[in-house]
Amino acid sequence: MSDSVLFSRSRREIELYLKLTPCSHCGRPYLCVSPSPASNGASASSDFIASCETCRGTPALRFRISGRPSDRSQLIDVAQWLTLYGLTLEAAHQEREKALSRRLAMEAATCLNEALRFYDDENDLPSAGAFFTDDSRARFREHPQLFSRQRLLNLRAQLPTPSKFDAGAA
Ligand SMILES: [Zn+2]
Repeated sequence: MSDSVLFSRSRREIELYLKLTPCSHCGRPYLCVSPSPASNGASASSDFIASCETCRGTPALRFRISGRPSDRSQLIDVAQWLTLYGLTLEAAHQEREKALSRRLAMEAATCLNEALRFYDDENDLPSAGAFFTDDSRARFREHPQLFSRQRLLNLRAQLPTPSKFDAGAA
């Protein structure tokens, strides 16, 4: 598999990405580990490696931490942030403990904020560069109305304002 390195703003963002990205061989989740300083060689160019625990020897994903928290993501695209928003909001609704539920709702709001970084003020829909995968592009083609910036702003207005939580922060 390719030796390409994926760029992420934080370990937290890598973990969110791995939620959406199962092993291409067996479909099980990847585990994220940071390469030890001693194991230089191939991993010298990456800060984190994710590999499937089930099919061990197979391709790992390599990540390098880069960019500022205020940049838009290079790892998770606008459609994937909307997926994460949906998953997190669902978890918030199912959580019985109030404080935890509120925290999850704030995380959902953060996912919307991350999605909103892919828009500019003049356009209600994101540009082609906001989509990183064929799946995401297909979702946009089939349901463009889900990507309305105004819709996202309306959804965010229903959620608590994220304070400390920031997917871009380490
Ligand atoms: Zn696997």
